[in-house]
Amino acid sequence: MLKKLFLVLIAFSFVNVSFAQYKSRDEIPLKYKWDIHLLYKTNTEWQKDYNRLSKMADKLKTYEGKLSSDSKTFLSALSLYSDLMKGYYKLSDYAQRLYDQDLRVSANQQLVEQSEALGTKISESTSFIRPEILKIPSERIHQFFDEQPKLADFDFFVEDIQRLKAHTLGDKEEKILASAQMLANSPSTIHGIFENAEKPFPEVKLSNGKIVELNSSAYVQYRTVKNRKDRAKIFKAFFNNYKRFQNTLGAILAAKVKIDYFFAKNRKYKTALAYSLDKNNIPVKVYTNLIKQMNKNIPTLQRMLKLMKRMLGVDTLHYYDLYMPIVKHVDMKFTVDEGQKIILKTLKPMGPEYLNTVKRAFNERWVDYYPTPGKRSGAYSSGAAYDYHPFILMNWHGDYNSLSTLIHEMGHTMHSYFSNKYQPFIKSDYPIFVAEIASTCNESLLNNYLVQHAKTDKEKLFLLGSYLELLRTTIFRQTSFAEFEWEIHKRIENKQPLTGGIMSKIYWKIVTKYYGNTPDVCIVDPYIAYEWAYIPHFVDYSYYVYQYATSLIYATAFAQKIITEGKPAVEKYYNILKGGSSDYPINLIKKAGINPLSSEAFDLTMKRMNNVMDQIENILNKKK
Ligand SMILES: [Zn+2]
Repeated sequence: MLKKLFLVLIAFSFVNVSFAQYKSRDEIPLKYKWDIHLLYKTNTEWQKDYNRLSKMADKLKTYEGKLSSDSKTFLSALSLYSDLMKGYYKLSDYAQRLYDQDLRVSANQQLVEQSEALGTKISESTSFIRPEILKIPSERIHQFFDEQPKLADFDFFVEDIQRLKAHTLGDKEEKILASAQMLANSPSTIHGIFENAEKPFPEVKLSNGKIVELNSSAYVQYRTVKNRKDRAKIFKAFFNNYKRFQNTLGAILAAKVKIDYFFAKNRKYKTALAYSLDKNNIPVKVYTNLIKQMNKNIPTLQRMLKLMKRMLGVDTLHYYDLYMPIVKHVDMKFTVDEGQKIILKTLKPMGPEYLNTVKRAFNERWVDYYPTPGKRSGAYSSGAAYDYHPFILMNWHGDYNSLSTLIHEMGHTMHSYFSNKYQPFIKSDYPIFVAEIASTCNESLLNNYLVQHAKTDKEKLFLLGSYLELLRTTIFRQTSFAEFEWEIHKRIENKQPLTGGIMSKIYWKIVTKYYGNTPDVCIVDPYIAYEWAYIPHFVDYSYYVYQYATSLIYATAFAQKIITEGKPAVEKYYNILKGGSSDYPINLIKKAGINPLSSEAFDLTMKRMNNVMDQIENILNKKK
């Protein structure tokens, strides 16, 4: 219920603080630091608000058991709930932002802990709301809405709860399901302990004589080692270690799949996929269409693999080469002021309303730019303070990554700002399924702008290559994972056996379909069949990774439409930016001009990907 807090989206850029331009926050000019005290002038003011909200939570609790009594009570309870949540988001926004400025300040940490404790209290005192609304007969709900016009703002909130009626059981059964929830995380817990603490790691002797113990972080470090023989060795040892434990790891994952099906079945869903997607009211066809469309476009992936083979200068591309950067890093340098100018030029097609808001973000201290000792690493945008404006945390390093991170977070910020501005509080919080569209659409526009204005072919190649990598790893790799998840769930749902060995066979079939496994495309070595066991998402969050692929595909398509069609496309796109959670995510995307059930977004994205490859090939051919 405290959803908005999780919408703090983090895109890690791992900036080393030792590169910091400033030694302390005090040295940084005000205009490069966010103005958190806009929310509360002092901590004393914050404490006062804390007490006020704590009392509000007590008051809300007194409505328990009374929501169905009459329309007036219903309205006052929901209004109080909305005010409480709005106040709480602001309160915790201040504490968290202040803390992130310098994690070493214990006074700020105390504020965070205090606000978390209030969050727990609020969760408890509001936990009756959803189950009670669910129980009210829909005719009675209609009557309430007729009697109280002020309830209009809550229409979607209430409808979204009531639509789950068909999947809600009697009190007794609900109690059993709730206690079964206690067992649901066991596979993830067992997997975490085995994978991180108890699984033995293989040792590999590299060509320079160094012996490496291959734990997960060593694998990530050494999979891009220059010596190709070493790379092959690293991959072979790392994934064959998963083969050793495939029965155990397979049993853990199968248990997770069975638990998914247990809850789905008992909640009267045909499949775990349908249950999982219904939380956001997303039709199963969105998922199956993703897999269908990407399968159709495997030739585009294989074209890229052939291009990678050429760019890496190898006779035969192997799966263990795929992490190697295909383009030389070009050091592009931008000051914050230069970065702001480029972002404003890039976003010009978005029209004056968008552009003026970005200018406000730059001029009115919405962004905290520089890394300083103790500051939280990475980057995020937080749009929690509904009556104010979002805040962006950056660790500006002055390179392409910094610039693209800033425009990404600015996308989140604009989405939050416009949703907060155009929607009542209760409808302002946008769902995860659309959350990465505004951000990655901006990244796509930036890359396009920089390529057009590149000074040298080297620079152009670097930009095109980085973008191409992003498309491959996010769109194709994540879709292949989504396909694997679906296949293993189908086996349990069709009452077929599912073991680690069977999972490896399923994974092998999918990975060789995508990557070809022929010398002219890419050789997939046999031990890659066990790669599924390395992906923690399958055990930790079922049916989650597909959203990485869908958001980037929709975002790329929106960017293409904005570039080619201009104003009419932008106007439609605002339906997402200003839409918050006023409608289901799929409807927002449709209103914005793309039907997720059609092939349009996929066609546009593949067109862009092929265009990027055309440009790379042109440069490479010139070089010859
Ligand atoms: Zn993001």
